[in-house]
Amino acid sequence: MSRPLAPKALLAPRLLPQHVPGLDALVRPLELVERPTPVTEAGALGDRWKLGRLWIKRDDLSAPLYGGSKVRNLEFFLGHALARGATGVVTMGPLGSHQVLATAVYGRRAGLATRALLTPQPDVRESGLNRKLLPALGMEVIRCERFIDVPLGLLRARFGQLEGRAPYWIPPGSHHPIGVLGVIEGALEIARAIEAGELPPIDDVVVPTGTCATAAGLALGFAMAGLPVRVVAVRMVPMLITGPGKMRKLARRTLALLRQAGYARPVTLGEILWLDQFAGPGYGLPNALSDRAALDVAELADFRTETTYVAKTLALFQQRDLQGRRVLFWNTYSAVDPDPAAVQPEHGPHWAGAPA
Ligand SMILES: *Cc1c(COP(=O)(O)O)cnc(C)c1O
Repeated sequence: MSRPLAPKALLAPRLLPQHVPGLDALVRPLELVERPTPVTEAGALGDRWKLGRLWIKRDDLSAPLYGGSKVRNLEFFLGHALARGATGVVTMGPLGSHQVLATAVYGRRAGLATRALLTPQPDVRESGLNRKLLPALGMEVIRCERFIDVPLGLLRARFGQLEGRAPYWIPPGSHHPIGVLGVIEGALEIARAIEAGELPPIDDVVVPTGTCATAAGLALGFAMAGLPVRVVAVRMVPMLITGPGKMRKLARRTLALLRQAGYARPVTLGEILWLDQFAGPGYGLPNALSDRAALDVAELADFRTETTYVAKTLALFQQRDLQGRRVLFWNTYSAVDPDPAAVQPEHGPHWAGAPA
């Protein structure tokens, strides 16, 4: 179900430009996220999992058309693409990718042509959904049946013309400083809520981790706000494409971008706990602990889970490693599936990144 778009005037002002006044000169984001996303306490779930407290950062509610973590990244990518005069965008991901679906939704809304390269993955609910929704959203899909077809497919996808020119490239998982900028805003929302006394101090922020763009943005955002929280990154994709070193590097590259925009404050990343042991038996495949976690959430909380990231990350709490700690879970998975009929191109002056 999609709700009518919120009047833009009701959105809270962005916090990142208050830290980095020169940011607008570098990239002006589109207004896609209903800021700030809520934080709700999941008391019954926290009790079952023996946590001190448990809150959920409701990035599942980041936008009424289609939420989840990728909307924050796309605010910046699409603003950047439009400012550069792009007429189309291209991205890539596994068949069930949320990033690909989010790009189809918000690229279309921004009036851009969209294309995606899809790579093989085990069947999850989202693969069936994407099969149906991507064409309905007007996305051009290049599907690789085998991994060996990916390099050639990528060349075609990335450099083949779309609307008469090469499309703007959005890397898989939004693993790029431009996309990470959007995640920083989410971390700053938490810091502001704690400063304002609306949220008690927290010990750990637990984040489902793929390419680690989200975890990197959170670590950087908390560091910029001077908020001492530990980022617990729970890996769900093969180590080949992610890792704590890549996470720190992406945070540093994003900080370098902010330095270009004139941000001068010294920044030291806080504590990071990187966990590898919950990814089994493979990308997109559940395990006994994740099935148990999904049942606990269905019984005791009001958000939905999916197999690839959220349930497998929450499996961590079955193991009592964070017992007694005050935990904020970063809910990356959209609360709704998009309705293609509700996704219409929108143009106008409030599209901050649109060329004049
Ligand atoms: C993309 C995604 C992630 C992983 O985010 P990264 O920034 O690539 O680490 C986690 N959860 C969900 C639901 C996602 O769609």
